[in-house]
Amino acid sequence: TDLTTDVLVVGAGGAGLAAAIEASDAGKEVIVIEKMPMAGGNTLRATGGLNAAGTSSQEALDIEDDASIHYEDTMTGGHELNDPELVEILTSQAAPAVEWLIELGADLSDVGRLGGSSNNRTHRPTGGAPVGGHLVQVLQEASQERGVEILLNTTAIELLMEDEAVNGVLVEAENGETYSIFADAVILATGGFGANATMIADLDEGLEGFGTTNHPGATGEGITMAQEIGAALVDMVEIQTHPTVVPEIGYMITEAVRGNGAILINRSGERFVDEMGTRDVVSTATLEQEGQTGFLFFDEEVRESLSAIEGYIERDLVIEAESLEALAEKMEMDIDVLQATVDSYNEAVASGSDEAFGRSDMPVSLESPSFYVIEVGPAVHHTMGGLHISANAEVLNENGEAIPGLFAAGEITGGIHGGNRLGGNALTDLMVFGRIAGQSAAQ
Ligand code: ADP
Repeated sequence: TDLTTDVLVVGAGGAGLAAAIEASDAGKEVIVIEKMPMAGGNTLRATGGLNAAGTSSQEALDIEDDASIHYEDTMTGGHELNDPELVEILTSQAAPAVEWLIELGADLSDVGRLGGSSNNRTHRPTGGAPVGGHLVQVLQEASQERGVEILLNTTAIELLMEDEAVNGVLVEAENGETYSIFADAVILATGGFGANATMIADLDEGLEGFGTTNHPGATGEGITMAQEIGAALVDMVEIQTHPTVVPEIGYMITEAVRGNGAILINRSGERFVDEMGTRDVVSTATLEQEGQTGFLFFDEEVRESLSAIEGYIERDLVIEAESLEALAEKMEMDIDVLQATVDSYNEAVASGSDEAFGRSDMPVSLESPSFYVIEVGPAVHHTMGGLHISANAEVLNENGEAIPGLFAAGEITGGIHGGNRLGGNALTDLMVFGRIAGQSAAQ
């Protein structure tokens, strides 16, 4: 049987849950539908953190930062292709989003740094624990407390219209039956299309055959559904690869491993890139190495600084040796080359200047045994393009006019990250624009 609600959210990832909470707090009845058997989407896989400048967590760690620097980093990282108005909102609303999450019960007290950021502003739980699962849990609990209904195994297949306005969604239930959910406002938060290999290769043939870090539900039909009723798309060809993914199994190693001090070396034991460069730069440099992969290299101090690494060791993704010599032997590398690489990196750490590759943030020298490597290469990670939205998260048509009743937030949207998304800016995007979509839909 058909259902009716005030606000219908499609997709129970980070953006959808944030939107649901805000719409509910604005006094609306909210239903969330999710096609998978569980909530979380790609958000569940986010391990890096959430970028924000000027937060209480930074203040507690004596980190001075400003949203305007976050803005500059985001525009530079995105090759200035980003929509400046949306980036202004992203970066100025990031700190309020962090405080909102903390109020909902999130732990975002650890602040590290990911590639392309000029300051420590990537927020994550204590000990550098993976952030996505934590935030999804906090948001799901907050939704439940508010009586938001989350219907799992329920797939949106078509947007319903009346008088040029969206007034609901045709959905398919687990048993294959279809029914309608009518709503005053619909928020599309179905994520990106990183797991849709056909769509990826059609847009960028260079990515044909690439693996992906995405969850299997990231297939992009939310974008197609909106396009069918006249929504405009932006930046669809801008597809990001993540440079440190374990080949074959597609398991992503968080950028925080580099942020906390790891370097990248090739099969010969040489560094080949500024490890803290943006994802596009590091991915391209890796593909130029023999075997088209590289190796994250770090020591005991880095291991102890980041609890995520324990998970990689448990999964058997890490090669470990008690000395550099033993590591070189295991890796069939020339010990003299590896030793020279490590020595010259440690000299760069000591002098504060990396003449070889210009890495600016070198938190620790790599000298405490044991030593570790993880083999990594690029895989499809984030689709920067998507629905064109306004500052209020309204979905726009080709003439730049809002389609009445339709809002969107999260990876389904385009324009915010331009040509390359900075690590840590996805969660910011989901929270900032998810909240805005929820507030706008409630008006
Ligand atoms: P974001 O947080 O950026 O919106 P996520 O990937 O975290 O992205 O969340 C998107 C969610 O939307 C996923 O859980 C995904 O399974 C869900 N989803 C995708 N397509 C549909 C659809 N057609 N109907 C319902 N849910 C969908």
